[in-house]
Amino acid sequence: MTDTLYRGTALSDSFRIFAVDATQTAQKARDIHDLSPVATILMGKMISAAAILSMDIKNENSEITLRIDGDGELKGGLVVCNEKGHVRGYLKTPKLFLEDTEDNFHPGRSLGEGTLGVIRQSPHAQPWIGSTELITGEIAEDLAHFYLQSEQVPSAVALGILIDPDAKIRACAGFMIQQLPFAAADKAQRLIQNLQNTPNLSDLMDMGLSIVEVLERFVFKELDLNLSEFRQIEYRCNCSKEVVARSLITLGLEELESLKEGITPVCHYCNAKYNFTASEIADLIQVLKEQKNA
Ligand SMILES: [Zn+2]
Repeated sequence: MTDTLYRGTALSDSFRIFAVDATQTAQKARDIHDLSPVATILMGKMISAAAILSMDIKNENSEITLRIDGDGELKGGLVVCNEKGHVRGYLKTPKLFLEDTEDNFHPGRSLGEGTLGVIRQSPHAQPWIGSTELITGEIAEDLAHFYLQSEQVPSAVALGILIDPDAKIRACAGFMIQQLPFAAADKAQRLIQNLQNTPNLSDLMDMGLSIVEVLERFVFKELDLNLSEFRQIEYRCNCSKEVVARSLITLGLEELESLKEGITPVCHYCNAKYNFTASEIADLIQVLKEQKNA
């Protein structure tokens, strides 16, 4: 099952719009990591945000990483999205359960002070790294702040997620609207009014509205909006035994020799287990030695 990423323009091309329905992707993340309610909400919002950030990817084999780091008990985590729409991620405290029911719906309360970081990686180029302080920890405001600080682009971001008591995600979606430099002030004003009159995104999703319907009926009510499907997204890890073997080699000779009985590393992103027997570790040690002598 895949989800959809949308992009478009509005008000005579003076605004860019990115929108995502990430319901299935968030559900898979919840199931893989057996996330608690507050962790599910943080992960769902981070998935929507990372999918929106992935719209900036220009090259093949590139990916963006969204990192949230907080000094509170929820701590944070990271989500990666590549140009194919494959999403993967993990949280540092996936099972955190909070006594106060309300706190479980507001991850920002347990993230504390911290940062939102974005890493853009593409082949044959130095990674681009940007970071801004968390404003609320509810991710939407933090992402808008990031775009204003690091790209000087005024942005409005809304992220919503609804979960049932049985851990089923009913809906997970979001949108970002960016004002382009030549946007006319009067048009911007009408859009701001609409945004102010738009009910809470999660409440609209609770009424059964899709993210596209929210944009058409509320945010861009009586304004021109040109939105189309851009790409499918899904939770999919890129790990393989070869990738794990390469990272084992980077541990160095001393570390590898300490694993010579064999080891079964588990992928952080998808929980896949890769068994390396004693003889396979011996082969990796051989590869490492040959690399050193080359
Ligand atoms: Zn994996």
